[in-house]
Amino acid sequence: MTALETRQEHTTSYYAATASYPEHYPELEGQVSVDICVVGAGFTGTSTALTLAERGYSVALVEANRVGWGASGRNGGQLIHGFSKDYKIAAALGPDYEDMIWEMAWRGHDMIYDRVERYGIDCDLVPGYFEVATKPSQVKELEEQLERLQHHQHPYEYRLLDRAETRHTLGTECFHGGLMTMRNGHLHPLNLCAGEAHAAAGLGVKVFEMSPVTRLEYGSRPKVITDKGRIDAAHVVLAGNAYHRLEPKHLSGLIFPAGSYIIATEPLDAELRQEINPHNLAVCDTNEIVDYYRTTVDGRMLYGGRCNYSGRDPKDIAASIKPRMTRVYPQLQNTRIDYEWGGKIGIVLNRIPMLGRIESNVYFVQGFSGHGVNATHIMGEIAADAICGTAEKFDLFANIKHFRIPGTQWFGNQMLAMGMLYYRMKDWMS
Ligand SMILES: Cc1cc2nc3c(=O)[nH]c(=O)nc-3n(C[C@H](O)[C@H](O)[C@H](O)COP(=O)(O)OP(=O)(O)OC[C@H]3O[C@@H](n4cnc5c(N)ncnc54)[C@H](O)[C@@H]3O)c2cc1C
Repeated sequence: MTALETRQEHTTSYYAATASYPEHYPELEGQVSVDICVVGAGFTGTSTALTLAERGYSVALVEANRVGWGASGRNGGQLIHGFSKDYKIAAALGPDYEDMIWEMAWRGHDMIYDRVERYGIDCDLVPGYFEVATKPSQVKELEEQLERLQHHQHPYEYRLLDRAETRHTLGTECFHGGLMTMRNGHLHPLNLCAGEAHAAAGLGVKVFEMSPVTRLEYGSRPKVITDKGRIDAAHVVLAGNAYHRLEPKHLSGLIFPAGSYIIATEPLDAELRQEINPHNLAVCDTNEIVDYYRTTVDGRMLYGGRCNYSGRDPKDIAASIKPRMTRVYPQLQNTRIDYEWGGKIGIVLNRIPMLGRIESNVYFVQGFSGHGVNATHIMGEIAADAICGTAEKFDLFANIKHFRIPGTQWFGNQMLAMGMLYYRMKDWMS
């Protein structure tokens, strides 16, 4: 039985334990008719549903488990501009699109900051992000990013810090420099997702939980079918990302579920917090397989990393992640770990988010390759624009060629494991 068939409550994460939106939505039963039906209530689905509701459409949002149950409610909460590898998108679309991609790269931030304020979403949104080099060779990458910020006259505060300044800023010798960007930041992702769903429901979106979609029927009004109900709509958006199992003929072998894992410590005392992250920044390294950390609003160290492509979660997440944290901060060796959890990232081989249509009125939006808080909002808006009749950006992305691994149900994850080895070797060698 797959996870989707079991109708699960949230995983036992720090986020689920500190959720601000306890409301549950009903299971889909009977017949519903709307303009647009969105399948999957992570950031992609919820944000798309909210955008469409803001534009006056009637919308249904159908979730197999709980709103934010997938990666959106489990991630590191790092609000980072752009996509997994912006330069790959620029290379795929051509130099004429460079400015458009740069603007797009920050669009999700505008949407999130605006929604948090407009709907009063309680999600601990804090500005400040620090991308750090774990090797001297990675400083060049940060310098190139600095040049891009300068070239585009980025209007928010940013600064490249050398090794000594980085040590002073983060209280560790581990990093060789870092790029601080204050429009980026961090937040409680489950509360953002649930807060957006709450706002969408307030605008009339029919939200259904514990309603795995088992089948679609195509036609002028496609149907979304669950065990107990069906929804017909003029348009359907599929937003199941790494947890998606529908329509394998069209969608299998395109994105790959890779596990990422997080621990949250007990609350640290104020003196220790001041020593290790006095500016309350989200921190992420520049490796292909990233480690990331931040401090939560109640003073815990939330540390994540270790991508796993094998399809199997580690038996003991804390045992796997804690050594990574104590390598950076040995002073946390005796700190208690209160929460440990993991989730699935939807990896695309070329790292470009994947938009497309199965039929003219059935869209899919997926594949953020670990960079989704911002990118899901951007791509959801582009899908909403396409449904509303402005499809230029959607079609640009839909026309990008993606590599499909055939027969992934048998050997896809093994190929990914090899891919992971390749990226690890790249990290070691750089
Ligand atoms: C541990 C971890 C840490 C991460 N850290 C960061 C970070 O710090 N910053 C960042 O930007 N990104 C991060 N990411 C990536 C980011 O979380 C994802 O890219 C993003 O949340 C994807 O959102 P989504 O809505 O597309 O997918 P998901 O959030 O996975 O949502 C998909 C939803 O669809 C539902 N669904 C699937 N199939 C069906 C069906 N048949 N019927 C009904 N519902 C269905 C699922 O139940 C699920 O709730 C991280 C990811 C993980 C796992």
